[in-house]
Amino acid sequence: MINLVLFGKPGAGKGTQAEFLKSKYELVHISTGDVFRHNIKNATDLGKLAQSFMDKGDLVPDSVTINMLEAEVEKNPKAKGFIFDGFPRTEAQAFALDDFLAKKGMQVSATIALEANDDELVSRLLKRGEISGRSDDQDENKIRNRFDEYNQKTAPLRSYYTTQNKFHSINGIGSIEEITGRLTAVINTL
Ligand code: AMP
Repeated sequence: MINLVLFGKPGAGKGTQAEFLKSKYELVHISTGDVFRHNIKNATDLGKLAQSFMDKGDLVPDSVTINMLEAEVEKNPKAKGFIFDGFPRTEAQAFALDDFLAKKGMQVSATIALEANDDELVSRLLKRGEISGRSDDQDENKIRNRFDEYNQKTAPLRSYYTTQNKFHSINGIGSIEEITGRLTAVINTL
């Protein structure tokens, strides 16, 4: 079983790459951002709760996010493995994921970070915002706030996974195919 954590700032290409990897390795792709957006669209209680945080570019509280992630995993009892895209984003989420997977006899196989500089990411996100209409991608202040959240709360996870010998980093600049190739090279060593 392969359980991958895709790591990287907003706009790094996690979602795009997950689409390729999920078919190549037959994995279930869970994007916490996509699950929140789906709930907002359907005006569920979870969506209403998440919206105010997402609108500002803040992280949704851990308890809400962890429960949601666990529920998504439970929906796929026959999965051969998972791609976690946008989760964990805090230490509390990383601890919770390890505990939750351990109870199921599973574990994170590897965490792979897609690296790109902030200016490149801002321009990718503004372009994406024009196409998708996502409000958190259309405002540079909100984008920079998401980067701040990442730097403060998510970046510390590098050392958490490095200590476990599970942290890999790849260059996230290049064509989609080139980046898929870099990811595949790491995954094939697992
Ligand atoms: P994304 O689509 O991954 O860029 O996520 C969009 C927004 O959803 C983030 O800015 C957060 O508000 C929220 N979100 C997604 N994943 C998480 C998470 N693991 N923890 C907290 N908030 C999250």
